[in-house]
Amino acid sequence: MSTVLIIEDEADLRAVLEYNLRRAGHAVRACARGSEGLDQCRARPPDLILLDLMLPDTPGTEVCKAIRQDPALKTIPIIMLTAKSEEVDRVVGFELGADDYVTKPFSMRELVLRIQSILRRAQPELEPTGVVVFGRLRVDKGAHRTWVDDREIELTSLELRLLLLLHERKNRVQSRETLLEDVWGMDSDVTSRTVDTHVKRLREKLGPASAYLRTVRGAGYRFAETPDEAED
Ligand code: CA
Repeated sequence: MSTVLIIEDEADLRAVLEYNLRRAGHAVRACARGSEGLDQCRARPPDLILLDLMLPDTPGTEVCKAIRQDPALKTIPIIMLTAKSEEVDRVVGFELGADDYVTKPFSMRELVLRIQSILRRAQPELEPTGVVVFGRLRVDKGAHRTWVDDREIELTSLELRLLLLLHERKNRVQSRETLLEDVWGMDSDVTSRTVDTHVKRLREKLGPASAYLRTVRGAGYRFAETPDEAED
């Protein structure tokens, strides 16, 4: 869950924002003054800041500048809340490093969507790393290497993707159509028989670990829930 900090002095608007952002699944903190907002940021940095331009103490532009100058806070996305008449300030806000702005009155739905899109962008791309161990099978995701009983086997990147996806969704039946979409990609023109061919080849390579890959008649494939289940 991501935390949004609202810095807005209009109590009604602040309450509406708090309510809607909580409903959208965010943790929310709110305050009415710029200085207080800065203190809160420093005490516990939020994932995103909604910053009103016209605040009773420090102008939003100054708060924005202070955040961008603080090494610990400078990457936090900021959305400025502006009134139509504050167009000039809006430009200044961008110069100071705001990521986006909304003009009052704004649609709550639009704001929620913008927040989601900015948070998605701010998230670093997750590199598939780490080691998967399941019974006799071991996969080093970052190195693209696979072992069965300490014997290394050579999988193509597609076979590895197929194996990892089934393992990730273990105990849930994956239809051939789902696998086609998620492993091969939607635009691919391969048929569901291709899935069977690849599963067959993957099983041959997995040898003693092939039992983890179960066929569910008429439905698709399923990775065993536990190594023991497959070895019965
Ligand atoms: Ca205001």
